[in-house]
Amino acid sequence: MGTIAIYPGTFDPITKGHSDIVARAAGIFDHVILAVAAATAKNTAFSTDERVDLARQVLAEHKNVEVRRFEGLLAHFVRDCGAKAVLRGLRAVSDFEYEFQLAGMNKKLVPEADTVFLPTTENYSYISSSLIREIASLGGNVGEFVHPIVHAALTERLGKRKKA
Ligand code: ADP
Repeated sequence: MGTIAIYPGTFDPITKGHSDIVARAAGIFDHVILAVAAATAKNTAFSTDERVDLARQVLAEHKNVEVRRFEGLLAHFVRDCGAKAVLRGLRAVSDFEYEFQLAGMNKKLVPEADTVFLPTTENYSYISSSLIREIASLGGNVGEFVHPIVHAALTERLGKRKKA
């Protein structure tokens, strides 16, 4: 199957920043698995199935990219998949401290895999799922930062909340 990379995250929802990382990784690794965390302490706007479904639709064009949900510890999922790399995106120096700690811990838990960081493309550095959700819930237009399918889902889920 070649070299497998796992790209883990909450993806609540998937943004153009995420899909840019995936597209670039798909050109480097043989197989990329975008792994949607089911067990998250975060209060998500979309359920795990919805987050998986949106990511699948957005990434459908990539033949060597697969979207899967994972429960529990990422290290176990990485090992079960036989992955050699854990992919993370870096937006700013502020991401680095936490990501560096996470990479160190994952290396301890799964020594056979390494974390690979891809820097965001410059014009996506300010995009985060949390900011996108906040803007959408306050009635702002997030069409520029997410796929049209995600835009529609956000409008449906959050855009109408204020009027309820
Ligand atoms: P998590 O809850 O694990 O942080 P996210 O879904 O927020 O999950 O992010 C998953 C990964 O994507 C993280 O490595 C994050 O740094 C990266 N990421 C998020 N937004 C961007 C972006 N605009 N450009 C590059 N990487 C990003």
